[in-house]
Amino acid sequence: MNKEAGKKNILDYLPEELEAVIAELGEKKFRAAQIFGWLAKGVTGFDDMKNVPAPLRAELAEKYYIGLPEAVRRQSSVDGTVKCLFEFADGTQIESVFMKYEYGNSICISSQSGCRMGCTFCASTMDGLDRSLTGGEMLAQVLAMRNLTGEDIGHIVVMGMGEPFDNYEELSRFINLIHDKKGYGLGLRNITVSTCGLIPKIRLFAEDFPQVNLAVSLHAPNQKLREQTMPVAKKYDYDALLKTCREYTVLTGRRVTFEYAVIDGVNDSPECAKELASRMKGWLSHVNLIPLNEVRGRKYKTANEKSVAAFKKILESNGVAVTVRRTLGSDIDAACGQLRRNR
Ligand code: SAH
Repeated sequence: MNKEAGKKNILDYLPEELEAVIAELGEKKFRAAQIFGWLAKGVTGFDDMKNVPAPLRAELAEKYYIGLPEAVRRQSSVDGTVKCLFEFADGTQIESVFMKYEYGNSICISSQSGCRMGCTFCASTMDGLDRSLTGGEMLAQVLAMRNLTGEDIGHIVVMGMGEPFDNYEELSRFINLIHDKKGYGLGLRNITVSTCGLIPKIRLFAEDFPQVNLAVSLHAPNQKLREQTMPVAKKYDYDALLKTCREYTVLTGRRVTFEYAVIDGVNDSPECAKELASRMKGWLSHVNLIPLNEVRGRKYKTANEKSVAAFKKILESNGVAVTVRRTLGSDIDAACGQLRRNR
């Protein structure tokens, strides 16, 4: 059931599109910027838009709704991490996570409900794709999380449920929405998008958003191993993927971060580390080692600390930039996509 059936989500509209809406209602264009500004503040109803005339507010409310999701489940960690299961008006559920870092507060948002990429270690993909989110629904996660925590959010990672490049148009809309100075005004360098490696979209992204950070989920040192855990590797070959990423660094002058979930007995051997190092050496690459989040119903175990440390050392001694992702919210555990499955 859709609680807002027949209405449109006003959070999906860019300022120039809102101008057209306003013009259609016979009102002055400058109202669009006012409304866009209010929406970025996280208002939940049109009547909160104090400087917008009441008749216009009423007209808008007839045709549009402010699509902020409802938090149907919430987990808070002692380290400040807040994980939310959000539900949109049509019942679609997704997860977002608020995290505190030294450099500021960050949110991890979802781009789709479910996912069709099929990575074998991931919880989000277990039931396939439910539906893609709109740009406004990505923005809505940031606004709802800020309302909920009362905290500013200065960094956004699109690393929640879904494959953002499988929803490229709406991802672009989201970036344009959150970057617009009339609204949230977030700097492009404060956004990171993570992809499982859809090559044509990486090229497009380098052209469209050269300032937005790119992370690529690699999780293996070669094609054979990558194919075992990531079906997408069968479509986009390992060598071609790395070649595209190198081209990305040349085009944008910016590094690519490679995510590497370290899985016990699968990709954590010193040989794997050496092979990965040989592929990463000598260009603007950065490896982010992620201790695997164990997912119920998946066979994989997280690699032990010793093998992660040894893995890191091998990369370092080969001159490869490497970090180990800090584990946040370990007391609320649940790998991404698990909150939705355990409802
Ligand atoms: N579809 C995108 C973004 C979503 S996932 C992508 O593939 O990059 C964000 C990151 O978490 C990806 O690197 C993904 O491979 C990783 N991931 C998924 N399940 C995981 C798990 N159980 N443990 C650790 N990392 C995981």
